[in-house]
Amino acid sequence: MRATYILVLLFAWTTAVSLGDPFSKNDSVKTYRFISKNILTRLIDSVFEKQEVTRGDVELLNYYATILKNNNSDSVKLSDFNLSELSFYSQSDEKILFPPVSFDSLPSSFNLVLENNFLGYYFSPFKGVITSNYGFREGRLHKGIDIDLEKGDKVSAAFDGKVRFAKLQGGFGNVVILMHPNGLETVYGHLSKIKVKEGDVVLSGQTIGLGGNTGHSYGSHLHFELRYKGYPLNPAGFISFTDHKLIHHTVVIKKSNHLLAAFPSNSSLHTVNRGESWALIAGKYGLSTKELLALNGLAKRYYLKPGQQLRIN
Ligand SMILES: [Zn+2]
Repeated sequence: MRATYILVLLFAWTTAVSLGDPFSKNDSVKTYRFISKNILTRLIDSVFEKQEVTRGDVELLNYYATILKNNNSDSVKLSDFNLSELSFYSQSDEKILFPPVSFDSLPSSFNLVLENNFLGYYFSPFKGVITSNYGFREGRLHKGIDIDLEKGDKVSAAFDGKVRFAKLQGGFGNVVILMHPNGLETVYGHLSKIKVKEGDVVLSGQTIGLGGNTGHSYGSHLHFELRYKGYPLNPAGFISFTDHKLIHHTVVIKKSNHLLAAFPSNSSLHTVNRGESWALIAGKYGLSTKELLALNGLAKRYYLKPGQQLRIN
């Protein structure tokens, strides 16, 4: 109780005095394999004794407090992952934007755990209005979603992970790619400023850059992608961008028409046959087209391909 109270005070104070200090000692942030309310209280006391409180201190305390709160527990065992050694590409590929992984080498269906005490917990990269969804537009796949922001707004890591790529790269502009222990990668494009470097370990919620309009972009926004070993997934199948939390803790990833798609573990699927339309499929299952689109994380129709799988409940 006391820890949470002090933390609120600490936040009120640290947001009042602007902190310019970057989150620097990345490797030392996960010192604790086990966190309890007592440890948290001691940490908060020690922070109060410091001459200067850094944003890193606050983010670390917040991380521990969130873990305890999410688990509704006095003590929680923390990550065993050595994030700094995380890798699923060959070392020489890691400088490439998306290193090639053969589609055939991926299983046709597998469970993917998104958050737990070991992986950490999701944090919204930026709480803004969605201006463009994942999906085909003008015949090309828009591989992420666009979130409206102002230049200079802080962009946060969505999950704990390691910075695999952080530089200016063509249409993406200044882009950061984070690698996560479950095989996911998150991509943050068009940044005005990158605040991390390749190899850094970052925690969910940590600022990784500032929003902007670099690369192929008309107006400041965050282009956010979620990929599994390089293959794009529709982030709306995982994340509620209005509630700013995950929709499911675990999803099933399936191959669907040369792409991967995520479904809740208990959902039924329809495989699209040649000639079927959105309305026809919706009607089969007593849904409206709008309901069918919403179930599949889409705001508007894009063309269906035979073999593609749609969630129908
Ligand atoms: Zn985009």
